[in-house]
Amino acid sequence: MRLSQLFTKTRKEAPADEVAKNAQLLIKAGFIHKEMAGVYAFLPLGLRVLENIKTIVREEMQSIGGQEIIMTALQNKETWDITKRWDDEVVDVWFKSVLKNGTEVGFGWSHEEPITAMMKNYLTSYRDFPASVFQFQTKLRNELRAKSGIMRGREFVMKDMYSYHIDEKQHLKYYDSVKDAYMRVFKRVGLGDITYMTYAAGGAFTKYSHEFQTISDAGEDVIYLHRGKNIAINEEVLDDDSLKKMGVKREELEEVKAAEVGNIFDFGTTKCDDMGLFATDEAGNQVPVYLASFGIGITRLMGVIAEHFSDEKGLVWPKNIAPATVYLARIGDKKEVVKAADELYDTLQQTNIAVLYDDRDVRPGEKFADADLLGIPYRLVVSEKTIASDKIEIKARNQSESKLVTVEEGLKALAE
Ligand code: ATP
Ligand code: MG
Repeated sequence: MRLSQLFTKTRKEAPADEVAKNAQLLIKAGFIHKEMAGVYAFLPLGLRVLENIKTIVREEMQSIGGQEIIMTALQNKETWDITKRWDDEVVDVWFKSVLKNGTEVGFGWSHEEPITAMMKNYLTSYRDFPASVFQFQTKLRNELRAKSGIMRGREFVMKDMYSYHIDEKQHLKYYDSVKDAYMRVFKRVGLGDITYMTYAAGGAFTKYSHEFQTISDAGEDVIYLHRGKNIAINEEVLDDDSLKKMGVKREELEEVKAAEVGNIFDFGTTKCDDMGLFATDEAGNQVPVYLASFGIGITRLMGVIAEHFSDEKGLVWPKNIAPATVYLARIGDKKEVVKAADELYDTLQQTNIAVLYDDRDVRPGEKFADADLLGIPYRLVVSEKTIASDKIEIKARNQSESKLVTVEEGLKALAE
């Protein structure tokens, strides 16, 4: 992509009312647009990052048999009445509206009920199990506070997956396989070292659900961590009973702020019982169905990554999710410079290296500042000076020194 054609522009300042670092950085770099508090549009470069994260999550969910669907945003009151979760006293984040004919509808903030109601059409016999389905969907939640940028939206993208089993052992085994898949996701997006599976409230069999918490000053949760034993406990379940179960002592634990990037929850058979989803086994008897739900906050994850991988100059995207691998800066508009830079741009594209080509008619300092703000992993420079030595300049975003290399050496370094 040529930056001269990209409609977004970088800006020096974020809006005065934007207090979250992730949103400040992303707005300044032109990745997102703030529509209102907690509501953000994703612009071309921001969308690329979001899609790269989704691709990683999609690959990992498919690797454990997840089948992708998209449920509806408009929700039927009757479906949620069954479990009493239509009630605003029970669920305090509903956005609701009324159809022209007077029918009440809600906007999907989660999908356990509608998907289980839908699955009654497909999962009827033991032969239909197991089944695991997931979606990437815009959830709408009337959150009380929305001051964490894209880490807490009133409209945000979630990956939610739902698994159905009739065999309890297989159900529990699947639940564990999702834990592993989640850790692979967090590793691949660069947060493996600071993301902990954390015991939290809820869950059918034990008294726990499992959250995936990434250590972050911008997080809204507090967790208690035993780094050595790799155990983390959410403050909501930090009591003598839990400490004993985990085999840790309160004074061994470190208190850290963290952001919940994922949450997995075992409903046992309760949700399917409530919703009337049963199956017939081989003998023709009705048997209960186990459900677990597995969420990842995709936009929150992007916000956490933006906060974590940044410095005073801007964003520093990990390679796996960066909007491009290379920022190619053309310095000057002399004929031979334009020719050499255009050629390098073509070569990079042919080599399938995603490149942002800064072919704009602006000062070098502005190009370098934008390359840093955008956080593209590598910056290549073509100038009269580099041409004179038959080289190009290469610099990694997270390093301060640049090197002069031949085009071949540069391409080789990028391919690694
Ligand atoms: P929180 O305690 O932060 O409100 P939650 O318990 O309501 O989260 P879930 O309903 O389990 O979250 O949703 C699954 C995942 O979606 C969460 O782990 C989180 O990563 C993400 N998420 C939840 N609410 C928001 C939000 N308002 N904005 C962005 N992401 C969110
Ligand atoms: Mg919530």
